[in-house]
Amino acid sequence: MSPPSPRTILHDLFGYDHFRLAQEEVITELLEGRDALVVMPTGGGKSICYQIPALLRDGVAVVISPLIALMRDQVGALNQLGVAAMSLNSSLDYGERRAVEQAVACGRCKLLYIAPERLLTEQTLRLLSHCRIALFAIDEAHCVSQWGHDFRPEYTRLAQLADHFPGVPRVALTATADSRTQQDILHNLAMDGARRFISGFDRPNIRYRVEQQQNQRRQLLRFITQEHAGESGIVYCLSRKKTEATAEWLRQQGLTALPYHAGMSSAQRQQHQDRFLHEDGLIMVATIAFGMGIDKPDVRFVAHLSLPKSIEAYYQETGRAGRDGLPADAWMCYGLQDVVLLRQMMQNSDADEAHRRIEQQKLTAMLGYCELASCRRQALLRYFGEQRSEPCGNCDCCLEPVETWDATIAAQKAISCAYRSGERFGVGHLVDILLGKDTPRIRQWGHDRISTYGIGGEFKAGAWQSIYRQLIAHGLLEVDEHGALKLHPSCRPLLRGEQPLLLRKDVHKRAPSAGSRARASRDIPREQEPLWQKLRALRLKLAREAEVPPYLIFHDSVLLAMLERMPDTLEAMGAISGIGEAKLARYGEAFLALLQSHQAGGDPATPAPASGE
Ligand code: ADP
Ligand code: ZN
Repeated sequence: MSPPSPRTILHDLFGYDHFRLAQEEVITELLEGRDALVVMPTGGGKSICYQIPALLRDGVAVVISPLIALMRDQVGALNQLGVAAMSLNSSLDYGERRAVEQAVACGRCKLLYIAPERLLTEQTLRLLSHCRIALFAIDEAHCVSQWGHDFRPEYTRLAQLADHFPGVPRVALTATADSRTQQDILHNLAMDGARRFISGFDRPNIRYRVEQQQNQRRQLLRFITQEHAGESGIVYCLSRKKTEATAEWLRQQGLTALPYHAGMSSAQRQQHQDRFLHEDGLIMVATIAFGMGIDKPDVRFVAHLSLPKSIEAYYQETGRAGRDGLPADAWMCYGLQDVVLLRQMMQNSDADEAHRRIEQQKLTAMLGYCELASCRRQALLRYFGEQRSEPCGNCDCCLEPVETWDATIAAQKAISCAYRSGERFGVGHLVDILLGKDTPRIRQWGHDRISTYGIGGEFKAGAWQSIYRQLIAHGLLEVDEHGALKLHPSCRPLLRGEQPLLLRKDVHKRAPSAGSRARASRDIPREQEPLWQKLRALRLKLAREAEVPPYLIFHDSVLLAMLERMPDTLEAMGAISGIGEAKLARYGEAFLALLQSHQAGGDPATPAPASGE
């Protein structure tokens, strides 16, 4: 019997009908024994690129992965499909390790997940030298490159694989690598001849939004309860303290929220991470210590309560939302304090001059992103070197076009005020001067006698703060280490009236309008809500029994398809994307029975089943 085709495996085992992006080409390349570099956005489907060849080639496929959490997830998912995948890692005891090694030695293991340090030990190399190796897959391959954002020296030693195992195809995979990083990866892995398969960076299902800060907690609460009630999400904060306080506050509001930061014990961190993976609808309030290696596909939102330091960081953090391809939100709430604080931090940083300049540039790009009045996705992709001709239609600027106004005169007043008062004061005091306030500080410094005193009566304090924020964001004003505003040379043309300035009109939302409301995965007709909850409950029960996260039973998209199609036979159930043979055999009956009993139970509000597709 000839071996099944990659397409058959995709269909029967994984339950999908079509290959995505470059999957099929990469699979062919590996099946023919050649090396490959794969750059594919998060959620694009990198794993299948090596999993299918692993199943089709003789021998064990060795997958190199930097994190135990990642390995566990992948091994768990493959085991659910009935594939003999295992991992060798530091969490195993002696007996468990021996068992895995024996399975590898006698050919019972199809995919072996392992960290680079362990792979390159003499013991492991000896074990593998007696085996037939199907391929090597090097996941998170940006770790090989100094240009990448997460360099790990032990990764560079992987070049040895070429000598130890000549002729075994190798594939390196990552979600983020510009062309310089790509070249570096291939060079450091001694894979210079490998073909590159580069897919775009776009994450079309993520909706990018930035809100101006007013009352951050209230805004966050409104965002979560109105748009993501009962769903999983990550809230990023800058400090440990804020992480704890925010989680506590969300709990007081009746939500399930846990903190996560580097100051907690590793056992506690592990526990919170496990709960995040295994429970539905948990909110993780975290510093950036959390996220690397979190492959949870149904994270429905990532909220930023402080400004990331660069667009790279922002894109990586927001990229943890919506790996399953369903609609997800990247939401940020940002304000003047953020800008001042970060600018100040960079002024004070110990880094050398050159490094500091790079940090400043990155921050300026990030601030520019926040203050955009045009499509955010276009700007993000442009930053990564991709041109996109049309606005995306799925970011706040596209959905609710931002009004701009000619702020030339106001900006001149604001800048002059900083200048006249000696470039020694922060925003609060400058606004007081513009508004002609009578404060002890103003009297103390004689600022009621300078020419800008009281010339700003046309706006309220909030509007002046917005103007200052934008001037700083645009780099026209600088913030020194004490928070005082200083003029940047680039503001001269504006002061001389040679250059007009357009600024955003800040909008402060009460409730999201219909158009801006995210099409969240749970945007389910109200009458179907009870059945949706039953489906989720059944999934959770099966997950508890199997001791795996719910998404390893079925993704949300699969449950949504059940809701939509109401399959009434196992065959119809098996036609749903994401239900392969193994899962159909394991869970098909249970879900079918649930759908049938729900129908029979005659919740009268439940509509008749939608006919097929
Ligand atoms: P990545 O590692 O690139 O972030 P994964 O390999 O984890 O992405 O895949 C993301 C999700 O997409 C997984 O749930 C996977 O099962 C699913 N997927 C992969 N390939 C396909 C496909 N061809 N059709 C439908 N879903 C797919
Ligand atoms: Zn857009």
